[in-house]
Parts: sequence; structure tokens; C-alpha cells
Amino acid sequence: MPVYELEAISELLDSPKKISIVMHQRPDGDAIGSALGLAHYLKQLGHEIRVVTPTDYPDNLKWLPGTEEVIIGPEGPATKMIQSADVLMCLDFNDLRRIEPLDDAARQVPARIMIDHHRDPKDDFTHTFWDDEASSTAEMIYRLMDQRGELSLLNQEIATCLYTGTATDTGSFRFPATSSAVYRMAADFLDAGASPSKIHEALYSNDPEKRLRLLGHALANRLVVLPEYHSAYIRLNKEDVEQFDIQSGDTEGLVNYCLSIKGINFGAFMIDKDDMVKMSFRSKGDFSAQQVALLFDGGGHFHASGGRSKDSLVETERKLLEIISSKKEELNY
Ligand code: 5GP
Ligand code: MN
Repeated sequence: MPVYELEAISELLDSPKKISIVMHQRPDGDAIGSALGLAHYLKQLGHEIRVVTPTDYPDNLKWLPGTEEVIIGPEGPATKMIQSADVLMCLDFNDLRRIEPLDDAARQVPARIMIDHHRDPKDDFTHTFWDDEASSTAEMIYRLMDQRGELSLLNQEIATCLYTGTATDTGSFRFPATSSAVYRMAADFLDAGASPSKIHEALYSNDPEKRLRLLGHALANRLVVLPEYHSAYIRLNKEDVEQFDIQSGDTEGLVNYCLSIKGINFGAFMIDKDDMVKMSFRSKGDFSAQQVALLFDGGGHFHASGGRSKDSLVETERKLLEIISSKKEELNY
């Protein structure tokens, strides 16, 4: 059941405060878009705003209005910016472990507001606005503005940021959570000055050549298809990371190619990072990608989730294969 503590949250916003907005590690379009959209909105209400991310984010999001103000951690002023806030707004995550190592500082902030749409929210917050049926956190920021009767404050900057968050989290307005209300909201964003063609071009027609080369390599040499298990996965090793100079965001969306294969209901992606193997999971229909993510210290949504492993890439792949084979029946729905 959704949790809407909107009145208590709204009350906190009624008088000027020092507010820090923080999002999860490796932020995506919804995390950054909703955070910057909220920042532009709250500034109009007279608050002092800081936007903090625990880690860097992809270049194809670095054109968003306000991007130059984002404080990138975990080193530098990020911890202080969180500690010194009266209110911490936690966007697009629901478990403070998702902002490690900034989580200790976050726990010291007296008011910690969660605005999120992922499953299994944790008890780390003083105020909660949570709805796992929302298309995006950006949609929830729009609802917050609506609930406060302040949609008239929607300007081009806010609309551009929130459109970006919604578009990226709905796969360009096509995933099941894209309700008619989401399309109506998108119309409001357009009326306020958001330009879908410019936004989509900035997001998706701006790749460096190496990213396309990596895609070719991943599909030609690193894709494993298991038709009898209706599953496919891509794994990138340390040499791949080096050869293609893979940075944060370069592998975004790769996992989706697994699901584009006929008959495949579950796709996984794994990449050997310095300190862990980072994993992404996607599924279709009745099979839950989230249940697999939970076995890899992660979580997310039913059809899109992520996790990590401290084991080697080879060992992680072995464990994944074991899980896939144990779920053969469920995968063949
Ligand atoms: P992606 O595969 O695109 O990185 O993430 C898919 C979804 O799963 C996103 O909503 C993301 O926030 C969530 N997610 C990714 N990695 C993790 C993780 O390690 N833990 C949790 N709880 N969620 C994750
Ligand atoms: Mn999101």
C-alpha cells in the first residue's frame, strides 16, 4: 500500500529551511531529474537548497538545468552539505545504504523525507511519500506540487527536469506504469516549456563512439543466451572495462538487449568493477527480477532491479546460473 504523508511533508516546506536533496549512488535520469526539478521548485518557495549525489553521473545527463550546482561525493563537501541540513529529501531510493558512505551523515539530520517508488521501503526516514505504482520519482514531485496547489510554479526548468526523469524511468513513456495520468502530466510539462525532441536528443543521440563499439562487443562476444531457461545475460570483465574505457553510464540499457530476444523472459548484466561485481536484472510478465536482485544484496522494481556481489566475476556468474536453473519452471511461464 502506498504511504502518503504529504501533509506533514508539506508543513515542513511552509517556512524557509536549509534543505539538502540527495539521490542514490550511480544516479540515473529519474534520480537526477527529480532532484533538480525539486530543487528549482523549492528555491521558488525561498528555501536554501543543496543537491548532493554520492557518486558521479552519466554525461548524457549533464546538460540538465542546475547540473552545475550538483555536489558530487562521496569525497569533498558532500558529507558536510548533508550534515548541516535542517531537512534531507531522499529521492528515488528508500534504504539509506543506497547512499553509502554518506548514510551516517544522513542519519544525523532531524527530518529525513523519503520520496520514492521502489519496493520494500526501509524504516530509515522520519517522513514518507512512497508509491511503488508511480512511474517515476519525478511524477511524485509533480504530485507534491499539485497537492500543495502550486502547479502554477511549473516553469521550463522544472518541467525539463521532471520530463527527463519520467521519460527515462518509463522507457520513453512505454512501460506498464505509464498511466493516462502520466501522459497528462507530460502534457503539462510541454505547456511549461519542456521540449521532448531536444530532451530525447540530449539523452540518446549524444553517445561517444566508444559506447557503440562497446555495444557491438557486448552483443557479439559477451552475450550468453539460455533458450531452455528463457534467460540471457551479458558479462563484462576487467579487460573490457579497460579496453572500452567504461565509465559510469556507459553500460546503461545494455541489459535490455537481453529481453529483446524472442522467448527471453529474464535478462541480467554484470560488470567487474574494482571492488565488486555490479549487476542489473530485467524481466517480463510474471517473472520477478526483484527476487533475483534480493539474492545479490539488492532490490528495485518487479521488472527492473539491481544488486551486487563481492565474489569474483566467475563465481558470480556461477551463482547466477544456479539461480536461473533453480527457477526453470517460473521462467517458463
Ligand atoms: P539499473 O539496473 O538500471 O542500475 O537499476 C534498475 C533499478 O534497480 C533501478 O530502479 C535502481 O534504482 C535499482 N537498483 C539498482 N541497483 C540496486 C542495488 O544495488 N540495490 C537496490 N536496492 N536497488 C538497486
Ligand atoms: Mn526512479
